[in-house]
Amino acid sequence: MINTNLPSLTSDFLEVLNGFTVVEPSFVTLNFFAGEIARVEVAICDKNYSFEYAYAPKNQIEEKRLTKRFSKLSLYRALVDFTGISLPWGALTGVRPTKLAYQNKQNWQEFFKDTMFVIDNKIALIDDVLKSQEGIYTVDSPSRGLFVSIPFCPTRCAYCSFISNEICKEKRINEYIDRLIEEIEAAKPLVKSLRSIYIGGGTPVSLTNEHFERLLKAIGKNCVEYTIEAGRPDCITREKLEIMKRYGVTRVCVNPQTFQDKTLELIGRRHTAKDVIEKFHLVKEYGFDVNMDLIAGLTGESFNDFKDTLNTAISLKPENITVHTLCLKKGSKLKESTKCLSDGDVAKMVEFARLTLNENGYKPYYLYRQKYMAGNHENVGYALSGKQCIYNVDIMEETTDIVACGANAISKKVGKKGGIITRIAAPKDILSYINRQPQIILEKNSLFN
Ligand code: SF4
Repeated sequence: MINTNLPSLTSDFLEVLNGFTVVEPSFVTLNFFAGEIARVEVAICDKNYSFEYAYAPKNQIEEKRLTKRFSKLSLYRALVDFTGISLPWGALTGVRPTKLAYQNKQNWQEFFKDTMFVIDNKIALIDDVLKSQEGIYTVDSPSRGLFVSIPFCPTRCAYCSFISNEICKEKRINEYIDRLIEEIEAAKPLVKSLRSIYIGGGTPVSLTNEHFERLLKAIGKNCVEYTIEAGRPDCITREKLEIMKRYGVTRVCVNPQTFQDKTLELIGRRHTAKDVIEKFHLVKEYGFDVNMDLIAGLTGESFNDFKDTLNTAISLKPENITVHTLCLKKGSKLKESTKCLSDGDVAKMVEFARLTLNENGYKPYYLYRQKYMAGNHENVGYALSGKQCIYNVDIMEETTDIVACGANAISKKVGKKGGIITRIAAPKDILSYINRQPQIILEKNSLFN
C-alpha cells in the first residue's frame, strides 16, 4: 500500500504504479500540499522529489480534479526518473481516453502530449478514432440503446472474468428467460426510439432455439443496428441464424480470439480455428455484418502466431475487427497459472495490428483501456468504412442512455451535455436477479421516465 495524505486517491495511484512493476507500492510516499502554488512531494525508496503547479481551483469539483491530476502526474514523473521507464499513455489512467479528448476539445493534443506525456502514436490513434466517430458520436441523443444480458456460455474460457455460467449447469434457465422477457416488456415504453440493440453478456446463441426465439420475439425489431454476440462458433447454427434474420438482427459477433488451435485448447474453447472460419462463412450467407474479436498477448503465443491470426481475420474481411490486449483479472483461471508476455512483445503486436489493419482499409473507431492490461496498452475496434458499430461507440463514449435488462446488466442515464451518469446495476447472480427483478423494473422506470 502507498503512504499518502490523500488516501481516497490510493486506487488512482496504484493504477499509475501498475505500469511500473519494478516498484513496490509500499516503498512510495506521496503528499499533496495546497496553496497558490500546489506542491506534491514524492519519495520512492530513499529518493525524494518535489513538484509545483499553479493552483487556483474555481470550485470544489475543480479542486478535486486538479488535486488528483497533479498528484498522479507527480507520481508518474517521479517513477519515470526513478526507473528510467516511460509508458505509452504517460500519466493518463482511466478507461476512456477519448472522453478526455472530447472534454478538452480545443487543445486535447497539447494536453495529452505536454501535460500527460502521452506518446505521439497514441495521440495519432485517438485522433483517428475521433475522426471515425464523426456522424456517430452524439451528445444527448434522444434515442437510446437497449442491452440484453444472457450470462451463459457453453464452457468457461480460461481468461474469462465475467460472471458467465456454463449453460448446461444452470438449473434456473427457464425462470431466467421468463423474468428477462417480463423485464424487456416493461422496458418497452422507455425505448420507443432506439439507436441500437445489443444482446450479449456471454453467448446468447448458447440458448435453446425455443428460448432464443422467445427472447428475440419479445424484443421485436425496431432498430437500425441490432447486434448479437455469437462469440463461440460451437453454438452458431442455421436455425439460430434464421431466427436472427426473422427478427431483424443486422450484426453478429463471431469471436475467434486466435486462429491458433494450440491456444484455443489452452484457453478452454471447445473448437478449432477451422470451425470459426466455417461458421463465419455461414453467418455471411445470411448477409449479416460481422464483428470479430482478437486478443494480442495470449499466453503461449509468439508474434508470428498473432501475425498469422490477424492476417487470417483480414483475409475473411469481417466489417469490424477489435484487437484486445490480454487482460487477466481476478476470477480468471489463467491469472494464477501463467505469466504475461513482456510489454515489448505486446507492443509489437498492437503496432503491427494498427498498421496492417490500416493498410487493409480498417480504421480505428473506438478504444478503451483496462487495468491489469498486458503492456499497459488498449483495446481498439477497427471498422471498414461506414461499418462502425454504433453500440460500441455509445457504450465507450457514454453520451447515450442505455436501458439494460437481465442479470449483471447496467442501465445508464446520461445527464445533460454528457454530464453526470446515473447507473442501476442488476445483481450478477441469477437467483438474486430473479428475486430482485420487480424492484429493478421500478427503479429503471423512475430513472428513465
Ligand atoms: S465466451 Fe466470453 S463470456 Fe463466455 S466464457 Fe468465454 S470469455 Fe467468458
